[in-house]
Amino acid sequence: MLNHFISLNVYNHSLNERQETYMETGKGLTYNQQQNALPTFVKQNPEYKQVHSQILQDVLRRLDSAYQHFFAKEAGYPRFKNRDHYTSFTYPQVDKVKKTFSRLGYVYLSKMGFVKMEIHREFPAQEVSRVNVKYHGGKWYANLTVEVPDVASIEVPDKAVGIDVGLAHFAVFSDETYIDNPKYFRKMEKRLSKTQHRLSRKKKGSHNRGKAKAKVTKVHAKIANQRRDFLHQSSARIVKNYDIIVMEDLEIRNMARNHRLAKSIHDAGWGQFRNYVRYKCERTGKLFIRVDPKGTSQTCLCGEHVPKDLSIRVHECPACGLVMDRDLVSAKLILERGLKTIA
Ligand SMILES: [Zn+2]
Repeated sequence: MLNHFISLNVYNHSLNERQETYMETGKGLTYNQQQNALPTFVKQNPEYKQVHSQILQDVLRRLDSAYQHFFAKEAGYPRFKNRDHYTSFTYPQVDKVKKTFSRLGYVYLSKMGFVKMEIHREFPAQEVSRVNVKYHGGKWYANLTVEVPDVASIEVPDKAVGIDVGLAHFAVFSDETYIDNPKYFRKMEKRLSKTQHRLSRKKKGSHNRGKAKAKVTKVHAKIANQRRDFLHQSSARIVKNYDIIVMEDLEIRNMARNHRLAKSIHDAGWGQFRNYVRYKCERTGKLFIRVDPKGTSQTCLCGEHVPKDLSIRVHECPACGLVMDRDLVSAKLILERGLKTIA
């Protein structure tokens, strides 16, 4: 059992490592690279010392084979193993639950026996109807469900949000939160074209040309860094604040037909943004839903078809009279579509 959870953690860790390396360098990691890094990883995470190295290598091999299937188009992109499914287990049967707390100060775990327990809050052992045991960060946790029949159950609905990415703003949320486009991207674009112009005037092979070239590279790297910081921060905030996140399955190349538009899209890094949100959702167990973008900018919340080109910023519905920022309408439609898929 313990080995199983540890394998799972290593799997998720290694998958995350591959994704981050790919996003940061544009190059993936190989099985050999990850295997060579194992001894350092174990040194940094002593809880893995008890696991035979053969088991850890098996995990990396499984991950690698998931990638190979993906590259061969035989399977989808490797997914994080669901923590509720793998890193935790539940005893719903009452007799087992009773057994679980039959020894004071201990919890009974299947295949492990009685394990000493640190109790953070008093609880009526006889009323426990469900025990969920989790392995996280090198420690085991037991979550107890106690039925309280007299109090109406309080259902906290998951916080769901639809997100529309746009040109006027970087992103608009269905709850009217706006994320503005970072202005420094434009500023950096200007600096980039200036250094590129200088480079073009230097003689080929000259010392000055080499210097000018280094400057261009430096500006490129700075832009990439700023963009990554911005995307990491905004995606982290979203995943922290919402449980269900719905975004459009936008084919960016369709929107990039117009050159000036393409530049903004390139700046904003929507595709990268969506990937960050998606993988942060997977990592934290939040739900990420992708929906068909067809018509989200041309439809009213009432269902009426309201055609408008990109220059029209305000949605005005002749059928129901709704007047609203066009991107906000889209965000609300995106949320509605996403929730329909899980209803
Ligand atoms: Zn309407």
